[in-house]
Amino acid sequence: MSKKNIRLTGLSREELDQLFVGEWGERPFRTKQLWSWLYVKLVSEVGEMTDLSKVFRAKLEEVCQPLRPKVKSRQTSNDGTIKWLLSFDDGEQVETVFIPEEDRGTVCVSSQVGCSLSCPFCFTGTQKLVRNLTTSEIVEQVTFVRSQVEAGGQRLTNIVLMGMGEPLYNYDAVVKAVRIILDGSGLAIGTRKITLSTSGIVPQMVQAGYDLGVNLAISLHSVRDEVRDRLVPINKKYNLSALRKGAKEFPLKGSRSITWEYVMLDGVNDSPEDAHELVRYLKGIPSKINLIPFNPWPGTVYRPSSAEKITQFQNIVGKTGLVTVIRERRGEDIQAACGQLKGLR
Ligand code: SAH
Ligand code: SF4
Repeated sequence: MSKKNIRLTGLSREELDQLFVGEWGERPFRTKQLWSWLYVKLVSEVGEMTDLSKVFRAKLEEVCQPLRPKVKSRQTSNDGTIKWLLSFDDGEQVETVFIPEEDRGTVCVSSQVGCSLSCPFCFTGTQKLVRNLTTSEIVEQVTFVRSQVEAGGQRLTNIVLMGMGEPLYNYDAVVKAVRIILDGSGLAIGTRKITLSTSGIVPQMVQAGYDLGVNLAISLHSVRDEVRDRLVPINKKYNLSALRKGAKEFPLKGSRSITWEYVMLDGVNDSPEDAHELVRYLKGIPSKINLIPFNPWPGTVYRPSSAEKITQFQNIVGKTGLVTVIRERRGEDIQAACGQLKGLR
């Protein structure tokens, strides 16, 4: 194997075992030790793994790439939200956001540099897809942010795959990364605390339910095909009827429900009729609705719905018994809110 080509955070436990025990002839507990350094003690360098034998550590240092992305910038919002611009080996960049709340802390993770889907209200969508992130680039957003916030006395308890990109178009890397994050003797963030957000790639969406068992959020934004075709262009491939069928097939654990994200755009999808149609669309699917106030960005043609319109919409839908929350705007002053992320180079 050539030098420095191993990315430890991209390897499953079985792959680490194969490398250490199978190839290097190390004893089996090496994997356990390493896993704990990487995912419990959250060290940023192999050199900090003090209980490894000198020889083993030297070998790791010789063949392993760094354990962290480079930090290009860090901004803190008035409300405590933190946004990092992170850069990877090839110089490509993504943004990762931490949102502290009273009883929890959520990291919003990116899955691609850019996005291929071009939803016209989304800032990320104005950037073409550059490339998929690798498993380690996804995992390291979490290890990096957790080590940062824990050093400041905060907790990272939840993950949302809602940053840049469409996670289901980077399926294998995302699934592998989430499995590493779920591992009970490592980061140990449970399926209940992880939410994957998709614009509605139906086959992979259902498959992810079986492969991962995490929460699902679907970016709906309209229940009229002619409107959704425009707002979420993937609707031309998987239309509302296909999406509904997929949502019904999604394996929900226990009393969980599907979260439907609905960005409130003035005069586009925010009328009382839209609210009534939404209720009809969701009939028979265990659902929660997240109304997202539109976060404007420079150059957008869309405008946010008024607070009154949003409350009216919420009342119509909420009256039917569907849990309907208006998502709080977080990190808006530093362009860290939903749909505002962009990894500029
Ligand atoms: N690609 C995935 C996940 C990333 S987008 C998806 O589309 O679901 C995360 C969420 O932010 C989506 O619900 C998306 O529709 C929403 N969003 C995008 N741009 C936004 C904006 N300008 N204001 C508010 N929400 C936005
Ligand atoms: Fe991509 Fe999601 Fe933005 Fe659409 S909303 S362009 S799918 S990141």
